[in-house]
Amino acid sequence: MRTYPEYLEELLDFLRIPSISTLTEHAQDLKSAADWVATRIRGADIQNVEVFSVDGGHPLVYAERLDNPGAPTVLMYGHYDVQPVDPVEEWDTPPFEPTLREGRIYARGSSDDKGQLATHLFALRDLSRVWGPRWPVNVKLIIEGEEESGGASIEKWALQNADRLAADCALISDTAFLKPGLPSMDYGLRGIAYAELEVQGPGRDLHSGLYGGGVLNPLSALARIIDRLLDLESGRILVPGFYDGVIPVSGLDRDQAARVPFDSGRFLEQSGSPALWGEQGYSVYERITARPSLDVNGLWGGFQGQGAKTVIPSRAGAKVSMRLVPDQDPDDLLRKLEDYVTDLAPEGVTVACRTIHKARGVLMDPSNPFMEAAAGALEEVFGKAPVFTRCGASIPISTIFHVNLGMPVLFMGFGLPDDGLHSPNEKMDISQFYGGIEAVKKLLGRLARFTAGRPIK
Ligand SMILES: [Zn+2]
Repeated sequence: MRTYPEYLEELLDFLRIPSISTLTEHAQDLKSAADWVATRIRGADIQNVEVFSVDGGHPLVYAERLDNPGAPTVLMYGHYDVQPVDPVEEWDTPPFEPTLREGRIYARGSSDDKGQLATHLFALRDLSRVWGPRWPVNVKLIIEGEEESGGASIEKWALQNADRLAADCALISDTAFLKPGLPSMDYGLRGIAYAELEVQGPGRDLHSGLYGGGVLNPLSALARIIDRLLDLESGRILVPGFYDGVIPVSGLDRDQAARVPFDSGRFLEQSGSPALWGEQGYSVYERITARPSLDVNGLWGGFQGQGAKTVIPSRAGAKVSMRLVPDQDPDDLLRKLEDYVTDLAPEGVTVACRTIHKARGVLMDPSNPFMEAAAGALEEVFGKAPVFTRCGASIPISTIFHVNLGMPVLFMGFGLPDDGLHSPNEKMDISQFYGGIEAVKKLLGRLARFTAGRPIK
């Protein structure tokens, strides 16, 4: 495989910037990281670069080079922010002093996502030297600094600037191979609808000796509501109309799933749970990728301290998230949840249901020509055709690209499962970094043979 040692050196500089987006004391580092990105984009001979902030958030970098109206346009996404590093004592080498050991780059952000984002920037720089004054592919880049802190800048800006972002496909490198030597591409992602329930009973906390038996305890009411969200025997979600719109698991899903080396025994072992659980009639892999789920993520109310406090709390609450599959509509489901919990609330309490966040799921046809081009590029570089997978998690920006802006999203991730994202000793294999640069170049080379939006046969 071709190597790019000079790009590796540059990546190490990027990794030295502690761009932790959730900690306000790093605001200046986020600016530096955004500048690093903007400089590399200019270095790839893309001069139309803007760095700006939405509502005081961390900088967004937008750039474009549109030489050729007849050529396809690719929208490349990445994030330059990283997760916090604690527990820092568990790192073998300091998280922002990137260290090369055994063919790997150890540093916070090496795999998520600086190392992967950098593959795009370096691939473009190489291609700019080959392509000359008139590029055969139009390129747009949108790079954010709030991915790890749940910031909404990019989503807000993308929805307001849908025309500027219009493209034939989006490219995201922020995922991983299934195992070394086996690339994968997501063709589906679950959506999410996250709500907070609050049950209100007495006007203040009450003495359970003086009021117990005379008023309803909001915690008991909440327990009833929670109990009726899920049928633990069938694994079905009991919110009326919850499954409306669910696209059933298809023959294509089953064919693709058969190629995924998913081992439910290993899954159980990794979970540490005593047994598997879930919706009857579906495999574990289907349950966690192609079927919706509902989880209570937190419960609060009453006395949590040591010893006994005889109290009837005035309020109790729960965080409830639903992982959705296409074509479930998060707004519709949040309304159904609200109606249902309101109906379930016994007399003596009121219940409020607030939305925290939401995103629709994504489901694409893996045989669309852009995904085929990406799959071909991965196979050319890594020697094996990618497996098409559905992912149980949500990537809200991909929902915007696919659902709102109507383009296929190419999840061409170069991480490996043991990269330790968000954990101490995060790493990226140098060979994955080099292969990533090569694969992005091959993909763009293949797209250069497409006319706008359509492959040339
Ligand atoms: Zn990431």
